[in-house]
Amino acid sequence: MIFISAGHNSKSKKVKQDPGAIGNGYKEGDLTIDFRDRVCKELDALKARYIKDSDEETLAMYLNRIRTGNGSVVIEYHFDAAESPAATGTTGLIEEESDRFDKAFAKEITDTTAAVLGIRNRGVIDEAQSHRGRLGLMREDGIICLAELAFISNKDDMDRYFGHRDLLAKRHAEIIVKYENMIP
Ligand SMILES: [Zn+2]
Repeated sequence: MIFISAGHNSKSKKVKQDPGAIGNGYKEGDLTIDFRDRVCKELDALKARYIKDSDEETLAMYLNRIRTGNGSVVIEYHFDAAESPAATGTTGLIEEESDRFDKAFAKEITDTTAAVLGIRNRGVIDEAQSHRGRLGLMREDGIICLAELAFISNKDDMDRYFGHRDLLAKRHAEIIVKYENMIP
């Protein structure tokens, strides 16, 4: 099964909202919800089945609800932010205990994002190397990637993202389905 989620519940009405990072007039949570929905639309077109987070769920509620398994593909979207407006690029995060499937999936997602958006490829790093530390998402079973698509704090990253987000969603959906089919 495919599990797809938007980092930060910026639109919740029932639980406390988490906007995520703010940059260039955008809330990270709004962008991740929009991108998740675009990828889901492409998954629908591919007739792929998936479970997604609800906009009324915090990450903890979502992780508590889902039951992933060995062959699952788990992806969550975020945008990076930095004090310097020049910080740019896309990053893939994987778990400390990653296997070759996690690494290959995250590399393909990150390479494709960099190529489609035409921004710097910051590569794949494990959670311990990131400023986030150990992540709840990474404790799920399956092939897991947290994708930092671009820098919300960088105007050029955002322009490129808005110019190419539909193609990016299509490519992501294709990669997700490919990896979901890899382990029966
Ligand atoms: Zn985030």
